[in-house]
Amino acid sequence: MLEDKNTQKTSLADLGEFGLINHITKYFTIENASTVTGIGDDAAVLDASKKQTLVTTDLLIEGVHFDLSYMPLKHLGYKAVMVNLSDVYAMNGTAEQITVSIAVSNRFPLEAIEELYSGIQLACETYKVDLVGGDTTSSTKGILISVTAIGKVEKEDIVLRSGAKETDLIVVSGDLGAAYLGLQVLEREKQVFNVDPNNQPDLDSYTYLIERQLKPEARRDVAGFLKELAIKPTAMIDISDGLSSEIMHICSQSKVGCKIYEEKLPLDPQVISACEEFNLDSTMVALSGGEDYELLFTVPIADFEAIKGNPNFSIIGHITAENQGLNLVTRASQEIELKAQGWNSVKEA
Ligand code: ADP
Ligand code: MG
Repeated sequence: MLEDKNTQKTSLADLGEFGLINHITKYFTIENASTVTGIGDDAAVLDASKKQTLVTTDLLIEGVHFDLSYMPLKHLGYKAVMVNLSDVYAMNGTAEQITVSIAVSNRFPLEAIEELYSGIQLACETYKVDLVGGDTTSSTKGILISVTAIGKVEKEDIVLRSGAKETDLIVVSGDLGAAYLGLQVLEREKQVFNVDPNNQPDLDSYTYLIERQLKPEARRDVAGFLKELAIKPTAMIDISDGLSSEIMHICSQSKVGCKIYEEKLPLDPQVISACEEFNLDSTMVALSGGEDYELLFTVPIADFEAIKGNPNFSIIGHITAENQGLNLVTRASQEIELKAQGWNSVKEA
């Protein structure tokens, strides 16, 4: 995990807006040729070349999307970038720039903003994207962060949600449900801490789950794996809200149905043991737990041989005709209808 140290306190008011912007952005460098001019003018200048431009934005609000009692600011910065890069990769594109806008209350000292930006910087370096602008303002309460990612893709490489065809295979990268369980572990520790601050939690058996919640990685590598296999997905989406809600987007936009096989859902061993401990159904968690930031895509059935043995991917089902609806085939070979459930619904179940 990333380290968070935030012991010194320098008031943001003393620094002023421009002082703050200069301070937090001075360690960022430009890596991409498409970035002509970055921070410092009225607008950044980007070279669009002959490719198509991808633009995507996410807004994260304290108390709604994150809880600073267990989300260190450095992780928040990193994750805010990841959720946006994930959307660019889900279009089969390359992310090259981001802008970051923040609103912070005077409860936060400069050192807190430095932590936030150190996470953003680590994300930029790791994923080779340039920070080219943003906006900085104050808020009356809490912190708000909005990231916009800008990417590129060759026109013929673009993958939309709407291209899935009957008989296509449904494939997912990585594994499912861990980020949701990481959140459950962190929520539980927060309750324990509130009762007894001296309690030292033993989180060793949850390291993967917590890492998936606090330091998700966007799947920048998937486009390359698919190119190597000479596969172009027919449809693709990133899993931010849970598998069932994402497959529903693909099906409704492609006007098709689907069959997902319960026994094929990829689960990490920590997910299985944490589900037992929390008395949660692992299939439910895999289907409706959110924030995995894996890619869900469909490929022609002709690509079965190419994809089946690849350790990065799991074939979890196939596309059917629209009138067959969206179904989960259980381990007992029963078919049940997939329900649109965001990750919050796991809690309510
Ligand atoms: P303007 O008055 O034109 O909005 P600002 O003073 O807000 O300009 O910003 C000055 C420069 O710093 C611009 O290039 C802007 O994109 C960049 N910038 C402002 N805030 C941030 C931030 N939080 N992160 C990154 N860049 C920022
Ligand atoms: Mg501004």
